[in-house]
Amino acid sequence: MNAKALVVLSGGQDSTTCLYWALDKFGANFVQTLTFDYGQRHRVELECAARIAKFAGVPNKMLPIDTFEALGGNALTDERVDVHMDVGADSDLPNTFVPGRNIVFLTFAAAYAWQRNIEHLVTGVAQTDYSGYPDCRQETIEAVQSTLRLGMESNIVIHTPLMYRSKKETVLLARDLGALEAMALTHTCYNGRRPPCGQCPACRLRARGFDQAGIKDPVLVISA
Ligand SMILES: [Zn+2]
Repeated sequence: MNAKALVVLSGGQDSTTCLYWALDKFGANFVQTLTFDYGQRHRVELECAARIAKFAGVPNKMLPIDTFEALGGNALTDERVDVHMDVGADSDLPNTFVPGRNIVFLTFAAAYAWQRNIEHLVTGVAQTDYSGYPDCRQETIEAVQSTLRLGMESNIVIHTPLMYRSKKETVLLARDLGALEAMALTHTCYNGRRPPCGQCPACRLRARGFDQAGIKDPVLVISA
């Protein structure tokens, strides 16, 4: 029996790269995707995730979690909070940090996987070259994996293929996995713009990665 994998697909560049990593590792017939509707301001992400999964030929399930929106207080779910345009200006967490988000996502993803005998979760978190979210660290992921194994009596494995890759290396990996075409369907901009605003921290990180890799960002080619 082949191992099955569940990819947490946000509709962004990183999770899309992870989807192609999973296709390569587990095979197209054994990969599914899960997308969380957590009340993100930019609904375009959800459409992107569905389109990417369709393009890759894998199932996509959308699960609602409305608690983060009710909590408010961050720029990704609360429309009263503007995205700060500075990256790493000080040691404080950026106001795009949604506390608990990845922990909750992985827990629900594990529950979904458990019901379907899926033992592999794939997530696009990375601790390098990132916004400094503490729930993207390897240490956090390992702790969550231990908790899930104990709490669900499972052998779940959380794969983080991008954990130690820079944005540049992630772009090169996407190219090697044949994911560049799908990149045109991804959404990264914190301001929810299509074509992307080019100014927000997410847009700037993305642009730097493609620049350093010497590859034109397919999302810009399409929207140009
Ligand atoms: Zn942007």
